[in-house]
Amino acid sequence: MKNILKVILCVLVCYIAIGLGWMTKDIIIHENGKDGIAILGYHGVVSEQEKKENYASNPYFMSISEFEKQMKYLADNNYQCLSMEDVEAYYHGKKEVSKKAVCLTFDDGYKNFNTIVKPIIKKYNLQATNFVIGYKTKTNNLLYLQTNDLKNDQYVEYYSHSYDMHHIGHLPYKKKIETMTTNEIKRDFEKNKGLVSTDYFAFPYGVSCQNAQDYLKSSSVKLAFSYNQNRHMTRNDKQYLLPRYLMFSNMPFPLFKWWIE
Ligand SMILES: [Zn+2]
Repeated sequence: MKNILKVILCVLVCYIAIGLGWMTKDIIIHENGKDGIAILGYHGVVSEQEKKENYASNPYFMSISEFEKQMKYLADNNYQCLSMEDVEAYYHGKKEVSKKAVCLTFDDGYKNFNTIVKPIIKKYNLQATNFVIGYKTKTNNLLYLQTNDLKNDQYVEYYSHSYDMHHIGHLPYKKKIETMTTNEIKRDFEKNKGLVSTDYFAFPYGVSCQNAQDYLKSSSVKLAFSYNQNRHMTRNDKQYLLPRYLMFSNMPFPLFKWWIE
């Protein structure tokens, strides 16, 4: 009887040890950082009051305090913050990056990128890219960056988020890009000439399709970014389908840390 108990106890101990090992294996691996680059995809950042009054239920608009806490963490913990050119050089094997490498991107070209995000980026000596919707830069819409607002410097850069590929086409269950021919996609890119550089591109809603991939391969676009595959970008990823983490407001801070580790 005693022997049976010993065997059961032994099996239990082994079982728990294997389980614990399995659960902690990721933590141990991540202690030294993941390979590749954590590319973070934000949208808007607004004041605490505006967040409460106008964007309470919008997950893509963060409050200043939440955003600044993340930027301060990057700076305090010596994260290497990369520009689009750095990401491209890394992708082609021309540059090595730290295990703590991040790239900050923002979609849709909101005015608050210049008024709120940029001063915080400067304060912590980081850099960020905004992917701008071309036609919005000519609308005088106060919510969006206008042509004169798009001046690249050491802290911020502006690239393309399409000229006008956000609105859903005639098939409501598909994103517009999925309804477009390769030629229509080409024409959309051409409309951004003189407005914003298409050297780097972020897919509206992060959605790609075969026609877009075909066009990009024949174009001068250097890298294109998708969304939300919840993993770092590596050299094994497709050049025109690079993964980003979709950032959202009120995200638990440990999740932010986990993603960038
Ligand atoms: Zn967008």
